[in-house]
Amino acid sequence: MHLVWFKRDLRAIDHLPLLRAAEAGPVLPLYVVEPELWRQADAAGRQWAFLRECLVELRYELAALGAPLVVRVGNVIDVFRGFQASHGIDGLWSHEETGNAWTYGRDRAVAAWARQQSIPWTQLPQHGVIRGLESRHGWARKWDAFMRRPVTPASASISGLDGIDPGELPNANDLGIAEDACPGRQPGGRSQALELLSSFLHDRGAAYHKEMSSPLTAAESCPRLSAHLAAGSLSMREAAQAAWQRLDEVMALPKERRAGWDTALGAFIGRLHWHCHFMQKLEDSPEHEFRNVHGGYDGLREDAFDATRFAAWAAGRTGFPFVDACMRSLRATGWINFRMRAMLTAFASYHLWLHWRETGLHLARLFTDYEPGIHWNQVQMQSGTTGINTVRVYNPVKQSYD
Ligand SMILES: Cc1cc2nc3c(=O)[nH]c(=O)nc-3n(C[C@H](O)[C@H](O)[C@H](O)COP(=O)(O)OP(=O)(O)OC[C@H]3O[C@@H](n4cnc5c(N)ncnc54)[C@H](O)[C@@H]3O)c2cc1C
Repeated sequence: MHLVWFKRDLRAIDHLPLLRAAEAGPVLPLYVVEPELWRQADAAGRQWAFLRECLVELRYELAALGAPLVVRVGNVIDVFRGFQASHGIDGLWSHEETGNAWTYGRDRAVAAWARQQSIPWTQLPQHGVIRGLESRHGWARKWDAFMRRPVTPASASISGLDGIDPGELPNANDLGIAEDACPGRQPGGRSQALELLSSFLHDRGAAYHKEMSSPLTAAESCPRLSAHLAAGSLSMREAAQAAWQRLDEVMALPKERRAGWDTALGAFIGRLHWHCHFMQKLEDSPEHEFRNVHGGYDGLREDAFDATRFAAWAAGRTGFPFVDACMRSLRATGWINFRMRAMLTAFASYHLWLHWRETGLHLARLFTDYEPGIHWNQVQMQSGTTGINTVRVYNPVKQSYD
């Protein structure tokens, strides 16, 4: 049988590994809930709760195609070993993952095990990230070409395996994940992603470029697709193609009837590029999760950590009303807009002189959409340690008036 390992690609459409595996023979679609992953310092209950909702929908989607999702809790290699013993694995299929250091290490261990067992592991790209990239020259053109390729259809039917217990989806408590109340968290699941994409492209997004920067308007005017792109309940290609199609419709209208949509859609498509651009950076330089991008900044804040300041910032109790309001909103909803993420980080790094690694971990745990490639590069940019970006010290008072 062919084992399709779902990771951060929780959909049946635009899933080439699933299609290829289904063409090759009977398929076991598998998601492994890895307790060790959820014990990492950047993981949080809100992220699991969102993924769990995506998995519930994926289970329905795959069942309709003929092979319901199988869920197991444990170490991935132990789980694979069990299926190898009981059924024999002819091929292992997945998307490439650009994750944190822990997932990178886990993937290397899986590769070594698969080699030892003579199981071919086919990993296919799902984003515009190019593994083993030698030169950035022409990267944006390659991104466009990749995203313009037709969306992979779901297999008409998948031949599943009989007699396999589908397994229960655990709750955060079962996994020992710390209590993480997030009453305003956006719900997960592909149906939600499709609804957000459509409402943004046809209704909510007209003033995106004007309203993205204020936290008063951004929650409604921004696409809110980031958590879905991180979980893979929507593919980047689906998002890009829907945006291009909508842009074509808008550009066919006379200029006076476009109502700002051309600018809004251009801004959105640009950000979809950024998503993969930042992930590419972490793919090429995974050490940026831990080390200053530019070594010239080493030693700048490392020994200056002040636990009292950190605790006040993390709880939204610094006494700067706007900073605290943003932090408390983020804690309660799992999302805040780009400019406020930048301000929260810059305030911690400059005003409070805290090292970005601790503050970045705190923000990672608060973001339902945590995506290591974007996150660590942005945290370093907003902390002035890349050596290539303009140093931006956000003034929290000016921001509050804005
Ligand atoms: C310190 C800091 C940490 C961040 N951490 C994350 C993170 O962990 N996960 C994450 O998805 N985004 C992160 N961002 C980028 C950005 O703030 C969010 O992607 C965005 O606010 C999500 O809202 P949205 O889905 O409505 O997307 P929009 O901002 O409207 O953009 C559309 C999509 O483009 C991508 N995107 C937008 N802005 C950026 C950017 N600056 N860099 C790369 N991709 C971008 C996202 O995939 C997003 O869904 C971070 C930004 C900062 C300053």
